[in-house]
Amino acid sequence: MTRRWLFADQLGPHFDVGRDGVLLVESRRALTRRPFHRQKLHLVLSALRHRAAELGDSAVLLRTDTYTGALHELGEPVRVHEPTSYAADRLVRRLHATGMVESVDPTPGYSLARSEFAAWAGNRRQLRMEDFYRFQRQRLDLLVEGERPVGGRWSFDEDNREPPPKGVERLDVPPPYRPREDDIDAEVRDDLDRWTREGLVSPVGADGPRVFAVTRREALAALERFVTHRLGVFGPHEDAMLRGDWTMAHSLLSVPLNLGLLDPVEVVDRAAQAYRDGDAPLASVEGFVRQVIGWREYVWHLYWHFGPTYRRRNSLQARTPLPPWFDRLDADEVDAACLQDALAGVRDRGWVHHIPRLMVLGNWAAQRGYDPDDLTEWFQTRFVDGYDWVMPANVVGMSQHADGGAMATKPYVSGGAYINRMSDYCGGCRYDPKKRVGDDACPFTAGYWAFLDRNAERLEGNHRMARPLQQRHRLADLEQVVAQERHRGDSPP
Ligand SMILES: Cc1cc2nc3c(=O)[nH]c(=O)nc-3n(C[C@H](O)[C@H](O)[C@H](O)COP(=O)(O)OP(=O)(O)OC[C@H]3O[C@@H](n4cnc5c(N)ncnc54)[C@H](O)[C@@H]3O)c2cc1C
Ligand code: SF4
Repeated sequence: MTRRWLFADQLGPHFDVGRDGVLLVESRRALTRRPFHRQKLHLVLSALRHRAAELGDSAVLLRTDTYTGALHELGEPVRVHEPTSYAADRLVRRLHATGMVESVDPTPGYSLARSEFAAWAGNRRQLRMEDFYRFQRQRLDLLVEGERPVGGRWSFDEDNREPPPKGVERLDVPPPYRPREDDIDAEVRDDLDRWTREGLVSPVGADGPRVFAVTRREALAALERFVTHRLGVFGPHEDAMLRGDWTMAHSLLSVPLNLGLLDPVEVVDRAAQAYRDGDAPLASVEGFVRQVIGWREYVWHLYWHFGPTYRRRNSLQARTPLPPWFDRLDADEVDAACLQDALAGVRDRGWVHHIPRLMVLGNWAAQRGYDPDDLTEWFQTRFVDGYDWVMPANVVGMSQHADGGAMATKPYVSGGAYINRMSDYCGGCRYDPKKRVGDDACPFTAGYWAFLDRNAERLEGNHRMARPLQQRHRLADLEQVVAQERHRGDSPP
C-alpha cells in the first residue's frame, strides 16, 4: 500500500488519489515562512481541509512543522506528483533518494507534460507565446478545423482591447459566482486569528468573506457561472478598468485553477462548447482560451525552462527597495486614483485583474526601479493566486523587463495616456494625465519619461524602444521631469 501525497495545489480529481489513500499536509513552516496575504492563507487552508473532509477515511491530514516531519509521522513511503516549485521539487527528489518518496510522477495539473514542452522548444532560437499557443490549439483540437483556426484567425486580440464603455460605472454583466462560507471556513478563520495573536503568522492585507472557490463543487459552479453569464463580455473589455467594477468580466478562476481544482483542458473545452452552442462570440472565447492554455501554460513551462536563477535577473539594474506604504498595501496614503484603487484591491481581496497588475502596479514598480526580486516576492505573497511558478515570467519577464527581453520584446511601461484611455480613473484624480511637470503632473506620465531617460543606454539596442527613446529628446522639460521624479523619491504619489 502506498499513499499519494498531494500538495495544497493538487486538490482536484485529475490528481490521482488511487486506491491506497491520500496524505495531505498542513506544514506550519510553509505557512509562516513569509508574510502572506491573510485571505491567501485562508484559501489554502480552507481548500486543504475541505479536500480532507471530502476524502473522509481515505485521507490523512497531518499538521506538522515541516513536510519531512509529516512523512516521518506517517511512517511509510508515499507517491507524489511533480510539485510546482524548485524548492518543493528539490525536497521530493531528496526524499526519493532516501526512500521516503517511492515515485515522482508527472503532474496532470497542466495540459502539456514538461518533457513535451522541452521537445517543442527544441532548438528554437525564440520561444514565442503565439507559436506555443497555436501548437496547443492544434494539439488539443481546440477551435480548429483541420489545420485552420475556426473563424479564419488565430487571434482576436485586436477586437479584445476596447476601452470601457463610456459613462458607465460597471459593465452590464451578471456578477461572478460567490461561494458560501461554512464551518470549515469558520474554523480556519479562528485558527488564523489565534495564530496571529500568538505571533505564529504575520499576515498582510485585510480579512474578508471568502470570494474564491476552494472545492471542486465550487470551482465547477464558478466555471459554469462564468461561461454561461460572463464569457460573452470577457473579450472586448478584457483590458479595461472601471473604478466601480473590480471584477469586470474576468473569470476569477485563477485561484481554483492554481489550487489544482480544475483541469485546464476541461475549462477551455467548456468555453469552446459555449461558442459551438452559440452562447458566446468567438472573439471572447478565443481571448479566454488564449489565457488558459496559452499564457498560463507558457508561463508554467518557462518557469522550468529558464531555470531557478531567472528570478534574480535584473538587466535594468533596478535596486530601489519597495517603500513601506507599497509593501504594506497602505492604499490610503496614495492620491493617484489608479494606484490607490489597485493597492486597495490587493489589500482588501488579494486580487486585482491582469491590467491593474501589469499596467498600474507593475508599470509603477518598473518606472520607480523597484528591485525585481523583491517585487516578485511581493506579488507572490500579496496575491491570493500567487505561486512560485507563476511569478518569474509574469513579474521578472513581462512586467519588469528584468530578463533583458527573453520573455517580452519591450518593457510594459506607459504614461497616464494609456490608463486614461483604458479606465475611468483619471477623471476623478487629483493629477492630470496630460501633464508631466507641476503639482498636478501625472506621476505615471512623468515616471514614464524618467524611466526612459534612466534606462536609455540599457534599452538602446531594442528596436521597439527606438521611437520612444528618440521622442524624449523632443521634450523641452525633460531635465525638469527627471529632477521632479527624483525629488518624489519613495513617497506615495
Ligand atoms: C505582474 C503580474 C502578476 C501576476 N501574478 C499572477 C499570479 O500570482 N497568479 C496567477 O495565476 N496569475 C498571475 N498573473 C496573470 C493574470 O493577471 C491572472 O492570472 C489573472 O488576473 C487572474 O484573474 P482571472 O482568473 O479572473 O483571470 P482571467 O482574466 O479570467 O483569465 C483566465 C485565466 O487565464 C490564466 N492566465 C491569464 N494570463 C495569465 C498569465 N499571464 N499567467 C498565468 N496565468 C494566466 C489564469 O489562470 C486565469 O484564471 C499575473 C500577471 C501579471 C502581469
Ligand atoms: S491622472 Fe495619472 S495618476 Fe491619476 S488616475 Fe490617471 S494615470 Fe493614474
